[in-house]
Amino acid sequence: MRVVAMGDAAHAMSCFKGQGANQALADGPLLADWLRRAAVPSAVRGFMREMCQRTEQIVRASREAATFLHCPDVLGGGGGRGTQDFAGVREGAVPAFLEGLRAEGIGASLGAGLDGAIRRKLEAEGDAYLPPGGEEEEGCGGDEVELASLRAEALGCASGGDTAGLRRLPPQAIHGAKDAGGRTCLHLAALGGHYHSCRYLLTESCLPHTALDASNSTPLHCACLSRDRRTVHMFAAISKGDAPCWDRNKDGNTPEGLASACEDEHARKAILAALK
Ligand SMILES: Cc1cc2nc3c(=O)[nH]c(=O)nc-3n(C[C@H](O)[C@H](O)[C@H](O)COP(=O)(O)OP(=O)(O)OC[C@H]3O[C@@H](n4cnc5c(N)ncnc54)[C@H](O)[C@@H]3O)c2cc1C
Repeated sequence: MRVVAMGDAAHAMSCFKGQGANQALADGPLLADWLRRAAVPSAVRGFMREMCQRTEQIVRASREAATFLHCPDVLGGGGGRGTQDFAGVREGAVPAFLEGLRAEGIGASLGAGLDGAIRRKLEAEGDAYLPPGGEEEEGCGGDEVELASLRAEALGCASGGDTAGLRRLPPQAIHGAKDAGGRTCLHLAALGGHYHSCRYLLTESCLPHTALDASNSTPLHCACLSRDRRTVHMFAAISKGDAPCWDRNKDGNTPEGLASACEDEHARKAILAALK
């Protein structure tokens, strides 16, 4: 008898990312899809590979969140676990980073807003804290040429709305990918109005919706150019209270301004309504 583990049995995670059931639900159709396409042994192998690729980062993140949220001295600067190890922060810079979080009132009391607040701080002051050479995963010894080509592929998938293609790529390809205009995969997917790709990049790849490209545009600005009401609505909903998403970009355009410039009256009204 062959048994295939999925859901919590395959990728148990803490509940601090609210992702366990989401990921368990995604496993079912994925296995069905593989079984439709291939004989059982290779379908199971393909399923396991893709499932692990999709969930690995989330399992780690949920573990880190549990450690962070349950470490009483995490902000104490007194040698607790949290002061030695913090994902995305250079070793040695952790105490200063935690001190900064405490000074700004960033802690567990923010609840669901905690991740975003930490991410924004890292984005704003990243140079001071990130490991040398940019993002953490670049130092992991991977082949740089191959990584560059995977990142180019990620950008292509994002702008073409190829969510299945994105799923096949390793997380570091999606995370480090930027085009010549400094646009992330999320900017490009938003620009194309690719709702499902945007959802994937936000919820499973955990790309930040506040990221700025070279012209200070966020994915919300890009979505407004796409004319896709559903994509605009999603970004508007998650961007509430996040100033950079509503600010003017370097061309002087706010999301509302970009939406108002739409010549199609019907689309313009729908997008402006989605921004509310
Ligand atoms: C406090 C908490 C909050 C959470 N919040 C979220 C959230 O906000 N968002 C989110 O996406 N996820 C959340 N989760 C995670 C989510 O509940 C799980 O990831 C999800 O239920 C896993 O589904 P599953 O089918 O893989 O496993 P389960 O739901 O655990 O199902 C396994 C089933 O197998 C049965 N079983 C076990 N052993 C046997 C046996 N020997 N024979 C027969 N049956 C057996 C069990 O009784 C159970 O019914 C949370 C979890 C907790 C604990």
